[in-house]
Amino acid sequence: MGHYRPMYQTMALPLSAVKGVGPALAKRLQRRDIRTLGDLLLHLPKAYIDDRQLTPIRLLSDGEPARIQGRILHKEARGYGKKRQVIIHLADDTDRIRLNFFHSGYMMSDARLTEGREIAVRGIAECWQGHWQMTHPEWCVAEAFQPGYQPVYAAMAGLSGKRMATLIQQALTLLPVPAASPLDEVLARQSRFCSLRQALKQLHAPANPDQATLQQAAARLKSEEIIVYLHLMREKKRQADCPAIAMQAERESSLLHQSLPFALTDAQAGAWSDISGDLCSGKRMHRLLQGDVGAGKTWVAALAMAKAAGCGHQAALLAPTEVLAEQHAETLQALLAPLGLNIKLLTGSTRAKARRELLAELQSGELKLIVGTHALLSDDVVFNHLALALVDEQHRFGVRQRWALADKQRAGQQAVHLLGMTATPIPRSLALALYGDMDLSIMRGMPPGRKPVETRVIAADKMKPLAAGMQRILDDDGLIYWIVPRIDEDEEESISVDQRVDLLRSYFPEAHVLGLHGRMKSAEKKATLDRFSTGQCRILVSTTVIEVGVNVPAARLMIIEAAESYGLAQLHQLRGRVGRSCEQSYCMLIAGEQASPASMTRLQQMVNTHDGLELAEADLALRGSGDAVGTRQHGEAGFRLLNMAEDALLIRQWHEHLPDFEPSDAMLQFWRPYAESTD
Ligand code: ADP
Ligand code: MG
Repeated sequence: MGHYRPMYQTMALPLSAVKGVGPALAKRLQRRDIRTLGDLLLHLPKAYIDDRQLTPIRLLSDGEPARIQGRILHKEARGYGKKRQVIIHLADDTDRIRLNFFHSGYMMSDARLTEGREIAVRGIAECWQGHWQMTHPEWCVAEAFQPGYQPVYAAMAGLSGKRMATLIQQALTLLPVPAASPLDEVLARQSRFCSLRQALKQLHAPANPDQATLQQAAARLKSEEIIVYLHLMREKKRQADCPAIAMQAERESSLLHQSLPFALTDAQAGAWSDISGDLCSGKRMHRLLQGDVGAGKTWVAALAMAKAAGCGHQAALLAPTEVLAEQHAETLQALLAPLGLNIKLLTGSTRAKARRELLAELQSGELKLIVGTHALLSDDVVFNHLALALVDEQHRFGVRQRWALADKQRAGQQAVHLLGMTATPIPRSLALALYGDMDLSIMRGMPPGRKPVETRVIAADKMKPLAAGMQRILDDDGLIYWIVPRIDEDEEESISVDQRVDLLRSYFPEAHVLGLHGRMKSAEKKATLDRFSTGQCRILVSTTVIEVGVNVPAARLMIIEAAESYGLAQLHQLRGRVGRSCEQSYCMLIAGEQASPASMTRLQQMVNTHDGLELAEADLALRGSGDAVGTRQHGEAGFRLLNMAEDALLIRQWHEHLPDFEPSDAMLQFWRPYAESTD
């Protein structure tokens, strides 16, 4: 391998290396998972402004943004108190314009803004009584103006898009010129790929942001992540191929099988036969159980846990959120306790004393079954004899996390069986690429008696008829979910939930409307969900935190605002929260006013299709040639950038032709597949 100055060393620099980032700012960004220079560079522009040309003042158009350059004729302060302004009169060879700024002492004394100096200004031109003016334009001295395309960023962590732009441009200047990624050399042989450094430059400071160039640059950047991921998986596959405990026939799983309130569906029975076969085989199980939302994966998991415990071993189930872990603990307890099997819960909220006792019981082997969140992965969680690790909603965990639990066998003990579960319906070819390290059991269909969720697309201004529909559900003892639009700023998330709660309380004073969002404490979230699942609260206003796995069978109406802003797969997940009983359920997709015809077509798919896999494929087809870059800043499946629907082709491509190279540690560290869990 040739010589390169490692790029990832620079990417790993702390934020404090970036000019203008102090401790307070660093902390704020950290809360949004931006810890290093490289993290900052993954915040990709959402659009680009063409700022290549100067417009002569005379040729400005009213209401249009433009860049002008001129000489300062005069500067003055005007008005009093809050209305105080700094006014600058500017002229070029064609005409004059008046620039209005909020008053600041700094502008009045700024030497760059004195008469006769040239400045370049960008703002919205307005024609007022025959005179041009701009209000709060951006400005810089004429010499500093660099014509080109300006990237536009989403605001984040309370920083405006412009502020983000400044930081990111700063970060870019820190990438040393000869810096290379270990992949640069490998990919250079494929002529369509530039270096990683160039790709970042093209995305953040494009000379020419045409779709093709941007797509190439994004593909180059994403290729780093995919290739690292696929390498990790290859390594895991090698690791998976080893002997493990062969479980024997036991009473517990067959007793549970007989005591279930309903017969297993054929799909469940098929999956269980795969899994129990694996557990008895003496070879390590490494299987993914894929089944649509509501397909009944939990029972299959319970059977596997019963089998492990029945054979005298331990089993642990990892869930991505506390809410889900608690719910699983309850469900599993109800199923397993009658067989004399005890199951406990471990989360970040478990009190110190209870935690100590629990850890001791795990270590002694007295406790056989446990459910928990990431807290289970902590080093001091030591098992006596772990034989089976289950990871629910495994797409929420990175490869390493998925394996961390299964790596908890003690020295000298046999390898732990691993069962992942996911409702993310991914087309088989993509599943093979993404989860190529696992065997696949697919559960198709639903438990009997379920009716497809009747789905409608409605306009945003139809609150009256919608309220009438909601009242009918409430009268019929049904519960309602209301999902508020997704917002870039998590600080504002709680505000939009609160506003909706207020509105709905005014319509339904008896319904005990409550709100749920990601910034609430775990205990608060749990209390809220408890009140909803027991029917004390009848309408739950929420952000997409309820997306994952929550099971409240009495919920029969799902209302999703600004539905066009979600992918089909996510809408399907959300819709899967209702239709969990034999009663008819409904889903109302509220389309925002700006919904494009294309997104309306997409929403229509939800009306016509109820099969998750079909929807996933439709999503793929519809998005195949879709928007260029960054519709989502952080991907799913534990990815930082990748989006399974958008990047399916690229993923498959690298899966088929995986280049032979060794990712460096810094590189692995950077793309650390992380779980974007809400806890
Ligand atoms: P998911 O696959 O999304 O995790 P769950 O395991 O939460 O789905 O199951 C959804 C609901 O279906 C639960 O309320 C469960 O009790 C019920 N269920 C599961 N299996 C069956 C079955 N064979 N017959 C009837 N109901 C079932
Ligand atoms: Mg589930």
